[in-house]
Amino acid sequence: MANVLLVDDRPENLLALEGILEPLHQNLLYAYSGVDALRQLLQHDVAVILLDVQMPELDGFETASLIKQRERTKHIPIIFVTAISKDEEQVFRGYSAGAVDYVFKPFSPEVLRSKVSVFIELHEKNAQLRRQAELLKEQELAELRRESEERYRFLAEAQPDQIWTALPNGELDYVNQRALDYFAGPFSELVETGWTQVVHPEDLPRMLERWQQALDTGKPYENELRLRRADSSYRWHLTRAVPMTNRRREVVKWFGSNTDIDDQKRAEEAQRFLVDAGAALGGSLDYRSTLAAVAKLAVPRIADWARVDILEGGKLRTIAVEHVDPRKVELALELGRRYPEDPQAGHGPPFVIRTGESQLVTEIAEERLAELAVDDLHLGLVRELGFQSYMCVPLVARGSVIGVISFVSAESGRRFGPDDLALAEELARRTSTAVENAQLYREVEERAQAARVLETVGDGVFLVDREGIVRLWNKAAEAIAGLPRDDVLGRRAGDVLPGWDDLRARVPVAGAPGPAAAETLPLELAGRERWLSISGVGFEEGTVYAFRDITEERALERIRQDLVATVSHELRTPLAAIYGSALTLARDDLELEEAIGAKLLEVIIEESARLADIVNDLLIASQLDAGRMEVRVERCDASVLTKGVVDAAATHLPDGVTLRLEPVGDDLPPVVADEGQLRQVLDNLIDNAFKYSPDGGEVRIRVEPADEYVRFAVSDEGLGIPRPEEARIFEKFYRLDPHMARGIGGTGLGLYIARELVRRVSGRIWVEPNNGRGSVFYVEIPAASGAETGGKPRETARASA
Ligand code: ADP
Repeated sequence: MANVLLVDDRPENLLALEGILEPLHQNLLYAYSGVDALRQLLQHDVAVILLDVQMPELDGFETASLIKQRERTKHIPIIFVTAISKDEEQVFRGYSAGAVDYVFKPFSPEVLRSKVSVFIELHEKNAQLRRQAELLKEQELAELRRESEERYRFLAEAQPDQIWTALPNGELDYVNQRALDYFAGPFSELVETGWTQVVHPEDLPRMLERWQQALDTGKPYENELRLRRADSSYRWHLTRAVPMTNRRREVVKWFGSNTDIDDQKRAEEAQRFLVDAGAALGGSLDYRSTLAAVAKLAVPRIADWARVDILEGGKLRTIAVEHVDPRKVELALELGRRYPEDPQAGHGPPFVIRTGESQLVTEIAEERLAELAVDDLHLGLVRELGFQSYMCVPLVARGSVIGVISFVSAESGRRFGPDDLALAEELARRTSTAVENAQLYREVEERAQAARVLETVGDGVFLVDREGIVRLWNKAAEAIAGLPRDDVLGRRAGDVLPGWDDLRARVPVAGAPGPAAAETLPLELAGRERWLSISGVGFEEGTVYAFRDITEERALERIRQDLVATVSHELRTPLAAIYGSALTLARDDLELEEAIGAKLLEVIIEESARLADIVNDLLIASQLDAGRMEVRVERCDASVLTKGVVDAAATHLPDGVTLRLEPVGDDLPPVVADEGQLRQVLDNLIDNAFKYSPDGGEVRIRVEPADEYVRFAVSDEGLGIPRPEEARIFEKFYRLDPHMARGIGGTGLGLYIARELVRRVSGRIWVEPNNGRGSVFYVEIPAASGAETGGKPRETARASA
């Protein structure tokens, strides 16, 4: 129904109009003045106005022109209703005021009705047109929207990333082809399962949490996660989504993208892995545990399996096998035991060891597997492990291959590529360096240990390198040679070692580790002649010499040789005499005179006594050497003792020799000594004086106090002793006339024994020339301290008992 506005100041006219228009069944509105009409027009959409021309205040023409001035109402057709004038001026005014028609009273109801109905129809047509126009506009908009969406999709499809959109509740409503290709599933499936089936289980909880947070807050979403590809390998993606909101700031759609950041992520991870590996590698100097640590670190970060093999004694030994599942490790080890690798194989660790080249197999083809399998069981076991892809890299130390690290992918479905191989190679390089360092360290440590040992050995050890430079000089070498290390190390052996050229020429050098024959040679060291026993062993860096000072040993050896010579000589003479005498006595065929028989017996007795003496001396000397001689130190009266010795000697005075004891003063203190031994010393000195005075002369004995000592002097006028020999005659077996040119026999032990006995009671013994003829032997024995001087008789009595 359209609105028809009837305007007249007189109600009866309005009533009449109402009557006429009723049958049109339109909605009639009434206005009683021009102002009233304008108000009605503000409120209603009017199809046609029937306007009375003659009205008070605002007449019909004025009202019409106001209606025409308003934008909203200017198109509304106005039909003037008038009774007054039909003249042209009125009519013209009406049209210029915007009338579309005039009806004059009295008017025919049919005409009026038809006129009004025309305008209503027109109005409705217009309304319809307007609606149609609006409709059209909406359609166009829809078309536009569709186009823009298409353009968006087009863009989305052209993207290298996966693009998706989701409803405000998070449900996917679009993914681009790239995403479908990646997951290789139909869109419906993807929508049904959402992301949960394709996100790596480890990344899923974080993803769900963040996505829910974004949906709740309407804030952009961002996350890094692994998405499973059609080949069931996972790749890292950066996922982003931004919300599109309407005017009321409500989210109407989510626009999302997944960018593949796998390479970058893996590079980062590889970097991190290498850093961790570096820490593990530096952590130990035991290279076996280092390698095991590396294998552990690699699983599952860069592979499902890691294995390290090391070449030991020409054989490949597996040091570590790693997998997250210990049962599988067992299975793999069992497999290794049952099916050892073929050393000639063109794949795996043996191949890498042989060639020193890395090996990368991106995909282990099923046929290949069957080909490599030894038997069905082998194939079954290998299949059970589910190997997919592998790489083996060599460990190279000091230029040679020392082992292999192998990485295998299995259940992760990962395929190793050149990037992975590069990482593995880098790891192998670092591992090799660590192993090399560990070995170096061990060598250095061993060397240091060897050096420490060398420092403690008693033998002098030194090393001369191929250039003739001294590289090692141990403590013992310092001590024996009297050459400080600093004077020797790093210098030419020829410049610093005395007698080097001679030494090098004479000492045989054995090849290591052969036995070295030692050479004994004399060297002038620190101003003394020393005898060194020295041997050399050659090795790649030079020659190691070991030497010891055998000067003492040599002296002893000479003494031993002297002993043997002397003893055999000394014993032989009396033995020969005894033997000869006894033989003569024993002869039956000879009638011996009684006097001769007696003489022979005398010889036997004398020589036997001499033999006993010699043996006794030897016994005493060896006891002294071995430190087994007992000394009983006590106070004894020196004058009584001396008198006794002199009296005894007087009984066997040789021809031409006189013996005299000089008077002993009363002030002579007692001595502190072993009385028996002191007697032996004096006996020996007097005996020697007799022996070495072949031409006779006086032997004089004097006893006197000398400071803290009591001095005994035995002088003779015999052969005398050349001054340079004065010290030597006290040496064991030393005799001035070993060949006994003057026919005087002795063992050369007497003075040695005397010196040793005197030393043991802190006394001294020496010899001096006796005024140009013969010698004087002095013995000084400590005197007993003053307080004890009085108590001598008892002590002496006991000592001599
Ligand atoms: P021996 O048994 O040969 O006498 P000793 O040790 O008693 O051994 O003496 C060593 C050497 O010292 C003797 O061989 C001798 O040459 C020399 N000698 C010892 N006493 C005298 C002395 N009074 N006069 C000269 N030479 C002596």
